[in-house]
Amino acid sequence: MNALSIRVKGTVQGVGFRPFVYRIATEEGIEGFVRNTPSGVEIRVEGKSDLQPFLDRLRRELPPLAQIDDMRVRKVRPLLLSGFRIDATSEGGSTVFAPADLFMCDACRAELQNPRDRRYRYPFINCTNCGPRYTLILGLPYDREKTAMRVFPMCPDCRTEYESPSSRRFHAEPNACPSCGPGLTFIDNGTRKSGGIEEAVERIREGDIVALKSLGGFHLVCDPFQPATVARLRALKKRSRKPLALMARDATTAEKLACLSPDELRVLASPQRPVVLLRKKKEIAGLSPGLDTYGIMLPYTPLHFLLLQEIPLVVATSANERESPILKDESEEVAGLADCILTHDRPIANRCDDSVVRVFRSAPLFLRRARGYVPDPLWLPGIRKQKSILALGAEMKDTVTLLKDGYLMTSQYLGDMNDLRNLAYMEEALERFRELFSAEPAMVCCDLHPGFATTRLAERTGKPVIRVQHHIAHVFAVMAEHSLDPHGDYLGVAFDGLGYGDDGRIWGGEFFALNGARALQRWHFRYVPQPGGDLAAREPWRMALSYLRDASGEIPRVGILHDIADDKIRAVARALEVGINAPLTSSVGRLFDAVAALAGIAPTRMDYEAEAAMRLESTVEPSESGVYTFSISGEEIDVRKMIGEILRCGEPAEVVAAKFHNTLASIIVRMAEVCREQYGIARVLLSGGVFLNAVLLEKTIATLEERGFAVHYPRRFSPGDEGISVGQAMYAAALG
Ligand SMILES: [Zn+2]
Ligand SMILES: [Zn+2]
Repeated sequence: MNALSIRVKGTVQGVGFRPFVYRIATEEGIEGFVRNTPSGVEIRVEGKSDLQPFLDRLRRELPPLAQIDDMRVRKVRPLLLSGFRIDATSEGGSTVFAPADLFMCDACRAELQNPRDRRYRYPFINCTNCGPRYTLILGLPYDREKTAMRVFPMCPDCRTEYESPSSRRFHAEPNACPSCGPGLTFIDNGTRKSGGIEEAVERIREGDIVALKSLGGFHLVCDPFQPATVARLRALKKRSRKPLALMARDATTAEKLACLSPDELRVLASPQRPVVLLRKKKEIAGLSPGLDTYGIMLPYTPLHFLLLQEIPLVVATSANERESPILKDESEEVAGLADCILTHDRPIANRCDDSVVRVFRSAPLFLRRARGYVPDPLWLPGIRKQKSILALGAEMKDTVTLLKDGYLMTSQYLGDMNDLRNLAYMEEALERFRELFSAEPAMVCCDLHPGFATTRLAERTGKPVIRVQHHIAHVFAVMAEHSLDPHGDYLGVAFDGLGYGDDGRIWGGEFFALNGARALQRWHFRYVPQPGGDLAAREPWRMALSYLRDASGEIPRVGILHDIADDKIRAVARALEVGINAPLTSSVGRLFDAVAALAGIAPTRMDYEAEAAMRLESTVEPSESGVYTFSISGEEIDVRKMIGEILRCGEPAEVVAAKFHNTLASIIVRMAEVCREQYGIARVLLSGGVFLNAVLLEKTIATLEERGFAVHYPRRFSPGDEGISVGQAMYAAALG
């Protein structure tokens, strides 16, 4: 008689893991049980025969949503059990994770479209292989009573499915049907009626804006081909040019508007269903002015699926005003943003925006990591930290991260913490996170910046606070997700808009030679004044002035400087002269603004972060291989000659954009060589929001690899400031 005790860690709840174990154990004719424990799942198997085939199948035939991070198998004394059973869910503190929200599986889709099925056209159909998860969860263990579905008692039919190990809905916590589950309501001018998909479609066709309750919040939905409606939507959202996401019925519809490579198609149609940036084939006015891409997603709930059967393409953008959190129920005044509302009575437990990615080297690169990708904890095999750590991130595009029992749990994108509404959202998310992962952090990490709301929040906790420099955190985030030894040797490259430096200056163009979590040396872009401080991040012409003055002492009228009033230019020039309200910066983000302004393609005032930089990337002439002149002296990278060349040559914007990207890639490669000569370091970590730029990222990686460097960059998290909390937690774990 053989007997094994198997302990499994990973994503093993809410994914049909226990019925799966039950099925293969029964098929293999072995005895035992499977049950949830506070730290995972425990399986006990006994049999006269070899148990190895069972173990092999356990790994090989895993249900699609399950993930095993760690599996320990121990020989034990047989208990002489008979049969195989599934034990009820256990209580207790938990590092068992529920998965993220995923689009409906093929089996559910077939039922949805089958007129004889009891869930025919039911917008809330789901099973253990698909459907909502994170946005429904109130607490763990993952159990119906701890989800937003607790207000819907199951009917006898649903209950039978739920209790039958052979059913696809065995312990599917959101299980529901038309007779017992949530339903739709259409609200127009205060009048409510049930159902409403047809009405919503009608109103979209008529040019109205419909607020549609989705998974993690409301969408504002309208017809992309009606410019007056799109303009009205922009006015309501207070966004004049920020790209509006589209939802297309299927890939064929998406392909009429934009190019779709096989990799892009795979990501677009994946069950995570992110918004994917795709290169435009034709222009629809007002959707993403000045850029060469559309953000497109496919339906990601059965409700979207049913709606899009009637209308092939809609604008589907988060229901919120500029910078505020996505709205999640009618009481949050959704009505003020739309002409009518299509809602439902399944509460949203966790607000969550749509994820936004671009496909880079066959995989998603995150502009925003949220729905479909959270919680997805990151298992850090090398970290055996006993105490749990909470990291609060920086300010813009913030997330929070908890480190507990060797797992990093990072929240969805939470927005800009400078805004009180988002700060409240963060506290809401933080509360849920601490509950979900039963963590009481022993220490708290924050940014060096004394003025950030997150820094003040960290100080108020009364716990030991670890302050981590912004760009160091960017680099450590890359180590975390690639399971790199934090005590190794690396060249960390961090390019972004801004972060508070050790010297009180604004950093954002940094190179660190790192050894054992310490910086041996830092190189940086030459400091230039940032006239007007934060205002310069919104008005790119200010940085153009600063770079021109630094390069030549003169301020000729070039690029968008033609469009700026004389008195404004004189005032900024004077401020630069005397150094008033002009903090010094090494930011590559601001350098992008300056070059976009000189090339004449930046807006005079930006509508959203990185607008000028995204336009510059969109403008690149791919066949141009020229490089501008730059120099490195001591720890400073000097691009004054480059600014002079841009001025003198008067080349078209496409050429300037290309040569500028080539120059940045050359600077990184040169710095990597300098660092390799001086310190023998041949491993480069790239991070910071600037590396969302696929042109720069591709050129940089390709050239570095050619020269024999190992290169790592963010894959599971965004290169932008969403990754700061990840890096802070990793840094604290490495040093603690
Ligand atoms: Zn399903
Ligand atoms: Zn039912």
